[in-house]
Amino acid sequence: MTVLAIDIGGTKLAAGIVGSAGRILARGEVPTLAAEGPERVLNRVLRLAENVLATPGVSADAIQRIGIGCAGPVDRQGGLILNPPNLPGWVRIPLVEHIEKALGRPTVLENDANAAALGEFRYGAGKGASSLVYLTVSTGIGSGIILDGKIWHGVKDGAGEVGHMTLLPDGPVCGCGNRGCLEALASGPSIARRAREALATGQPSRLRAAGDFTAADVVHLAQEGDAIAAEVWNETVEYLGLGVAAIVTILAPERVVIGGGVSQAGDFLFVPLRREVRRRVKLVVVESVPILPAALGPDVGILGAAAVALEP
Ligand SMILES: [Zn+2]
Repeated sequence: MTVLAIDIGGTKLAAGIVGSAGRILARGEVPTLAAEGPERVLNRVLRLAENVLATPGVSADAIQRIGIGCAGPVDRQGGLILNPPNLPGWVRIPLVEHIEKALGRPTVLENDANAAALGEFRYGAGKGASSLVYLTVSTGIGSGIILDGKIWHGVKDGAGEVGHMTLLPDGPVCGCGNRGCLEALASGPSIARRAREALATGQPSRLRAAGDFTAADVVHLAQEGDAIAAEVWNETVEYLGLGVAAIVTILAPERVVIGGGVSQAGDFLFVPLRREVRRRVKLVVVESVPILPAALGPDVGILGAAAVALEP
């Protein structure tokens, strides 16, 4: 089956035509310009979709379904975008109705983290497994849980928010309103924030010269042996290790897959992270739970939305 996949994020919109086995036959991408509000963004989504459908050599008639991954929270049954923090002004927008009316195909909606989890499960690092937990560690920490081949949605579609498990009861305030969530400690901005706090101790560090630094600078300087950067990175690995160890202990999934900007640290993240998880998990055969980098890279948005469209 061939589907149209649409990925709606706070910074970019992507669309693609995806054939069997996750082959991307056509694609396009434009900035979201979210500040312009829902109406103009929706028009951009439609124009992008129409452009992709008009790609020479692609038969638009072959498209049977449309899958959308969108920044959450979403109401899947109602096809609504509820009020995503990174899409200002979107309140209960009937996205599915809008797309079905304009493009005339049955349309399925999923939040972007769940869609990405399903994309990795079908076409990426989860291929061949029957269960998987996916985390994307970047500006925030998004995640999705696949059990017995299906997204685990939970009550009112609230499941899978691994990034919002509490690790420090009195820790920093999280975007969700709680304190000490994994996201408030180990997302990219949280890593940079902890590094800034560490600098306040007055110890020498090359981070100071880096000025307005990011998590990527922390990783880079930690690799070069900067003591403060290394300490902040070790803590980051420990926090992520606590989170992943909890997931493994509760679900014993066949794979844990980690994507997002922070995962670009590669072995510098994955080697000590696996060690930390092994150290924490006692009741699951932890060697049987591979902790793997995401495999789909920048295609995860399109392939995730395609996987959603292809769900039975
Ligand atoms: Zn939180």
